[in-house]
Formats: sequence, C-alpha cells, structure tokens
Amino acid sequence: MIDELDYESLLERAHETMPDGGGASDERWGVPELEVMYEGRTTVWKNFQDTVDAVRRDPEHLLGHILKVLGSAGSRDGRRVILKSVIPTEKLRDKIEEYVSTYVICAECGKPDTHLVKEGRTQVVECMACGAKRPVKVKKGQTAKEQKKMVLPGDEIEVLIQDVGRMGDGLAKVDKYVIYVPGVAKGARVKIRVEKVSGTTVVGRAIQN
Ligand SMILES: [Zn+2]
Repeated sequence: MIDELDYESLLERAHETMPDGGGASDERWGVPELEVMYEGRTTVWKNFQDTVDAVRRDPEHLLGHILKVLGSAGSRDGRRVILKSVIPTEKLRDKIEEYVSTYVICAECGKPDTHLVKEGRTQVVECMACGAKRPVKVKKGQTAKEQKKMVLPGDEIEVLIQDVGRMGDGLAKVDKYVIYVPGVAKGARVKIRVEKVSGTTVVGRAIQN
C-alpha cells in the first residue's frame, strides 16, 4: 500500500521533529507524526488518539487546548478528530508541540513522564521520573487572564447554582461557560470537578470538600 512506501519518510521526519531528550536515555521521545486529511472544509486528524496516548493527557484537555489556540470548532470521532476548518498540518503540529512543552515535558529532565496537578490555583507539571515540579507557563498569544478563565477537564472550581435546567441539572455560569451539575439544587454553592468541556458547555460533578 501507499502508506507503507511513505513509512520511511515519515519515520525520518518523525526523528527530525523529536525534541532532544537530554542524552541520558537512548530512547528519544516524540509525538507521533500527524496523519491528516481534508474532507471539504474540514480537517480530519486521523491519529488524534496516538497523540493522546503519547502525551498521556486527558483527550478532552488536549483537544480543548488545540481548538482554543486554533480558534476552530471540532469534535472527537472515535480515534480521530474532525476540525471544522482547514488547518495546515504544519500549524497543527506547532500547536501540539506547544501543548507538549506547556503541559507535558519536564523542564528538568526533558522526559514526558509527567502528570498535571493543582497546587492551590496553580496548575503544576509534576515529573514522575525525577520528581521536579514546574508551574504551567502561559504561552504567547494567550494572556494570563485568558488562561485563568479557561475551563478544562479535571479542574476543580467552586460554582453557584443559579438555575435548574430542563433535565433537572443545576446550572451555573462562569465567564462564557454554562456548567451543568447534576443533582444540585438552585442556590447551592458547590465545589465541582469538571468532567467534560464541549465549546462553552461544561459538565461537572459536585465533589466533597
Ligand atoms: Zn523530570
């Protein structure tokens, strides 16, 4: 198949785009080469799930960030993502690399074996390989204020239930977001954990303090 013929050049390219690992390990880590195709005015990111597996982050967190920085709508479709605009592969790759350097790579040892934790109001990248911690740094093109206002899966926030939706869910508004919190009555102030973000619609679950 044609895919196989292209494999060598893809591999070469993948090696070229890999960040330096710091030299301690033989294994160089990198995000898998993007597989993208275009259908009309949409961009199909065919191997989105491979990227998720490589960065080991919540797929909604990765997608939410990418959509925001691209200013595009889009949604998951199995292992793929359908972006509702034409995005050059190069641009998509840049945004993924930006995500990786912001949310994944350890600043100390350069390894991707990290997880995101919250320390107070600050999001922190904690390395499981060397134990180093660093705050998530705000990138250019995105002000600290915008970053703070962004709601992402896994976030824990306190909200005031201002209304009740048609299905009986509590409704809260935070900036541009409408947050659905099942099983919480109007007027309650609750701490929630964000489970799903789709555009400006958020689903959260009330958690114990
Ligand atoms: Zn580290």
